Amino acid sequence: MKVTSLPADDANPGWFHTSAQRTPRPCATGEIRTRWAIVGAGLTGLSAARRLAERFPDDEVVLVEAQVVGFGPSGRNAGFAIDLPHDIGADDYIGDIDVARTVLKLNMVGQQSLKDIVAAHGIDCHLRASGKYQAAIEDRGVAVLDAYRRGLDKLGQPYEMIGGPDLPGHIGTGYYRQALYTPGTALVQPAALVKGLADTLPANVSLYENTPITGVEYGDKVVLTHAKGRFVADKLLLTNNAFAMHFGFLRGRMLPIFTYGSLTRPLTPTEQARLGGKDFWGLIPADPCGTTLRRTHDNRILVRNSFSFNADGRPDPDCLRRFKQRHRRSFKRRFPMLPDVPFEFTWGGSLAMSANHEGQFGQLAPNVYGALCCNGLGVTRGTATGLLLADWLAGERGEVIDFLLASPGPSRNPPRPLLDIGVNLTLAWSQHKAGQES
Ligand SMILES: Cc1cc2nc3c(=O)[nH]c(=O)nc-3n(C[C@H](O)[C@H](O)[C@H](O)COP(=O)(O)OP(=O)(O)OC[C@H]3O[C@@H](n4cnc5c(N)ncnc54)[C@H](O)[C@@H]3O)c2cc1C
Repeated sequence: MKVTSLPADDANPGWFHTSAQRTPRPCATGEIRTRWAIVGAGLTGLSAARRLAERFPDDEVVLVEAQVVGFGPSGRNAGFAIDLPHDIGADDYIGDIDVARTVLKLNMVGQQSLKDIVAAHGIDCHLRASGKYQAAIEDRGVAVLDAYRRGLDKLGQPYEMIGGPDLPGHIGTGYYRQALYTPGTALVQPAALVKGLADTLPANVSLYENTPITGVEYGDKVVLTHAKGRFVADKLLLTNNAFAMHFGFLRGRMLPIFTYGSLTRPLTPTEQARLGGKDFWGLIPADPCGTTLRRTHDNRILVRNSFSFNADGRPDPDCLRRFKQRHRRSFKRRFPMLPDVPFEFTWGGSLAMSANHEGQFGQLAPNVYGALCCNGLGVTRGTATGLLLADWLAGERGEVIDFLLASPGPSRNPPRPLLDIGVNLTLAWSQHKAGQES
């Protein structure tokens, strides 16, 4: 079958351009036979490749990426490696307590794996266990924090409530009414992280970049074709998020939803003094359609907000233009003390969402496996599910793997064009409801 849509992310992802340059691995040529092929070298695919190579040291593992590593969504995100359950479908972000306990374990598998690899290989990606602020302005947001606090009590997790007057001492801006600080999140420069992960893969992983897979045949062997040749694999792992729909899986079940980030130039010492607060922090909104903020290791401010439904998984330049203006407005409201600080970079990137907030893990077809549908939390979850997919293929079972295997997977969406109308209306309404938090 022909792969009908290929990734083509926009040109200006700030994290990619401000992290150390690396020489991408060459694209594939000719016929390459392998036991394991993995499509998609984001966090999930990099994690699966590393673990598979460790579990099967005598096997060759091929990891194929359409773009260069760090240029896709895994290098475009806000860099929150979140430990806690973050169920945006539940009023208190915690939901069912037993599920939440297992999700916490799952997220910790991902976060700990990243910490271990970064430490073992000295990856320079500014990974810091700095915690996160979840902040509210609107009454609805304050109510979410209150419910989340009760959820965290249920879960036995530490937090601190910080009132509006004290917040400038933490984050500079006095824009917010209240924040809930949880200490377990780690913040990272995401492009530096994935570039570092790619450059420290075990010797039995062959990574091919700039190699979009354009066709696939399933059978006793899986054949993946690309512009200059083909891979013939015993087993295929799909870790390409919503693009797996173009490989014939989960069609009509995943939603490629784009969200957008902007990064300022570095603040001058005078601007840093005017801003005040800590020198490294991350804030997520109480309302999921609000604005995420970070102050980075190099004294830039990141603004992330806005969503669009791009059904083919490819960027829309019109959205980018519109949302850059919204970023500017969000920045100005929060940082009136920094009136002249421009954005140096603005970009978008795809999340794979599902209507029921479930991901996909395990077997998709004979000889085909997947860890897909990150639901916007791929830094820890993608890392964990990639690793655990490899463990499961090596015969391991356990509470977290069983939990993933038992998931019903993403639910079916309504047919198009009803879907487009529904998703676009929901996004517009949710964005409107976010009010001052956007
Ligand atoms: C602006 C933004 C902010 C975000 N903030 C956060 C955050 O703070 N914390 C968090 O946890 N998550 C966040 N996310 C979500 C996070 O980035 C994703 O969950 C994560 O990237 C998923 O990782 P993945 O490896 O599963 O998929 P991806 O990163 O999407 O990687 C899949 C790869 O597959 C490749 N591919 C697709 N099709 C083909 C093909 N035919 N041939 C070859 N290769 C192919 C793509 O090029 C891509 O590189 C954010 C996302 C965005 C866009």
